[in-house]
Amino acid sequence: MAGTTLPSLDAHWMPFTANRAFKRAPRLLVSAKGMHYTAADGRQILDGTAGLWCVNAGHSPEPIVRAIADAAARLDYAPGFQMGHPGSFELASRLATILPNDLDRVFFANSGSEAVDTALKIALAYYQARGEPKRARFVGRQRAYHGVGFGGISVGGLESNRKAFAAQLLPLVDHLPHTHDLGHNAFSRGQPTWGAELADALEAIVAQRGAETIAAVIVEPVAGSTGVLVPPRGYLERLRALCDRHGILLIFDEVITGFGRLGAPFAAQALGVVPDLISCAKGITNGAVPMGAVAVRRGIYDAVVETAPSGIELFHGYTYSGHPLATAAGVATLDVYRSDGLFDRAKGLAPAWEAAIHSLRGLPHVVDLRNLGLMAAIELEPRAGAAGARGFELFLDCFQRGALVRATGDVVALSPPLIISQQQIEQLVEILAQALRQLP
Ligand code: PLP
Repeated sequence: MAGTTLPSLDAHWMPFTANRAFKRAPRLLVSAKGMHYTAADGRQILDGTAGLWCVNAGHSPEPIVRAIADAAARLDYAPGFQMGHPGSFELASRLATILPNDLDRVFFANSGSEAVDTALKIALAYYQARGEPKRARFVGRQRAYHGVGFGGISVGGLESNRKAFAAQLLPLVDHLPHTHDLGHNAFSRGQPTWGAELADALEAIVAQRGAETIAAVIVEPVAGSTGVLVPPRGYLERLRALCDRHGILLIFDEVITGFGRLGAPFAAQALGVVPDLISCAKGITNGAVPMGAVAVRRGIYDAVVETAPSGIELFHGYTYSGHPLATAAGVATLDVYRSDGLFDRAKGLAPAWEAAIHSLRGLPHVVDLRNLGLMAAIELEPRAGAAGARGFELFLDCFQRGALVRATGDVVALSPPLIISQQQIEQLVEILAQALRQLP
């Protein structure tokens, strides 16, 4: 698009964006291939964030592009209520082969937010079906991001995402403490050794509310959008044990950690802790077509579906649940992950990634570096009176220097496509180092 006229920017109200500032100085991407975006001014931008944590196989792999085009020409749309098409069944079966243990029943949505709200509703429906309707409470965690539906922001823990809507959040929600503490786990490589006991806060909530009132605990195995908070060793294991003890469902929100980010299909496998439900999205189609999904243990499906009276068992679904373009993209994406061995590739690259990230230690303003799999975060000391300014300036400067990183407040997060090369890791970290040295 270099040299061509850009459209007016006025009409589009952009999501999670400082609209006025953006429209004064826009950053537009016009094409992408492999590890790179092309910006509107023609510059190549190294993608350090897999778009928004979703383009795990790199941009526009040919088999995915072809599958979407073929699907659009063959079956543009098929209703999903009381009707179906083969693609959604094929994708669900394929997902079941890479999901952990008996999580082999899959409900489709169109985004991570919808997947989260679907998972919460399935948890409620499950306890209704089991004759325990009092189990209606949810437990989330501080600093969690579970999308933007009312369910997701209620169990989520990012105050900025809740405050304008606080009058109407779900009423029966408690929050666990988050697991990040610079005093204890700054500069951890992989999982910090401190903090497993933070899971015991669930016991206090159970004591206060009564286990018989709690339907589910929902956590991101690695909290992503809030700035890559890596679970302490033993923490998720403890949460799993407490949920088992009290008959509470455990939901992993794997919208970011799913599809190879930690070197296994899901964090559940990478970290060896299996939940009862998994919400996922993003990498399910390599970001190419919007899609989300919830995988549940077979017993949950059986309780809601197999034991229900005849008729519709779950009054929930979306016009685009299992959309033909998304399911075609999903199957092709799983093929690419497998044929190119991308989950193993991520696992193999993780030690070099860790070393490269921690080479930034000692640079100006860096108060923490943390990593797991092919995720990492650089936490900066906030500038006095201007929290978040340094993070945003680092993001802007990296973009000028040719790399896309993601700032949330003063944390800069990194999550490159799993196809990144060793040399591109070094290039990304070198750009960050140069930008950090210049950062006021
Ligand atoms: N859950 C988690 C853990 C996420 O990271 C995100 C998005 O980043 C979501 C849910 C929401 O996904 P979406 O933006 O597709 O609605």
